[in-house]
Amino acid sequence: MTAFTAPLRLRLDSDALVSNWAWLKHRSGAAACGAAIKADGYGAGAVEVMRRLIKAGCRDFFVSNWAEAAMVEPLLEQGISLAVLHGVRDEDMAVALCSRARPVLNTPVQIARWKAAGGGPCDVMVDTGMNRLGLDWRADVAAHLAGLKVETLMSHLASADDDTPLTATQLMRFKELTRHVPAARYSLANSAGICLGESYAFDLTRPGIALYGGIPRSEAEGLIRQVVFPQAQILQRRLVLAGDTIGYNATHVAARDMEIAVLNLGYADGYLRGFSGCGRVSFQGVGMQVVGRVSMDLIAVDVSEASHVAEGDWLEIDYALPAAAAISNLSQYELLTGLGPRFDRVWS
Ligand SMILES: *Cc1c(COP(=O)(O)O)cnc(C)c1O
Repeated sequence: MTAFTAPLRLRLDSDALVSNWAWLKHRSGAAACGAAIKADGYGAGAVEVMRRLIKAGCRDFFVSNWAEAAMVEPLLEQGISLAVLHGVRDEDMAVALCSRARPVLNTPVQIARWKAAGGGPCDVMVDTGMNRLGLDWRADVAAHLAGLKVETLMSHLASADDDTPLTATQLMRFKELTRHVPAARYSLANSAGICLGESYAFDLTRPGIALYGGIPRSEAEGLIRQVVFPQAQILQRRLVLAGDTIGYNATHVAARDMEIAVLNLGYADGYLRGFSGCGRVSFQGVGMQVVGRVSMDLIAVDVSEASHVAEGDWLEIDYALPAAAAISNLSQYELLTGLGPRFDRVWS
């Protein structure tokens, strides 16, 4: 039997993932440090991420919905907790009641639904100023939750990656909630919140992006390591003559004779058109630039100065997240979660 391999792959660095979690745990002080593994582990693969983080000592995981919960449920051994951030719709109840994951209840309707079904262990989200999911912090939250066994009361920071007064305001509102809303644990900080220091950590932190190599704030620079390394194979190397154009809509005109390599990677893989004419790749330390538009499944790079690269070689796509975000006008989050299913995901 021949094993099928794709012409594009993500090299995923286990040591870097675990090292990032350990740094975030250290920054969380006495609080437990969990892991957001929604969106298939930010594109890295939720099951493989969870397996590695459990081994490293992580006990608390977060996904968005019940389909994501089902993907990782086989890994839920004793003492491992999984919370479903979007809570329970009517359509989720049958699955939720049989699941070992807990819903994060976000609305009075979700709370009523969960209570009516017996009110088992649950988490609760309170909105302290983001106006996304959660009970309004101004409501009588304790009254809403009367009779429920709340494992984790949480809120989410809207702009901890900026320096804005809203972050401290949310902290103050959340602190007030911890004084009169009973819960076994309290949790506020995402990756950026962890960078802000232990006053944001409470009992449990919920990093996502920084686990996967994102740098949410300067405090993490040089300490968080890149985890995801895309690579794509050369399908063709060709000569382009002066005056010829390259790619869709002929956006690149060759100023002189040049050579290009055409790589098996495109916007359908999450390498979006923001990288047209500016993305960078490398081979054995030699850097090269994307020329012309990114196609659905292909890109061209200028290999005029790289005589050693040939059809079949694997090139490294520059994907250090802050730099790649700056040149592509995408967020570090979009760069990770857009990485599609056509990559082979290869852990080292
Ligand atoms: C996604 C998410 C996180 C993780 O946020 P990062 O910014 O990726 O660290 C934490 N908490 C909640 C509620 C989330 O939705």
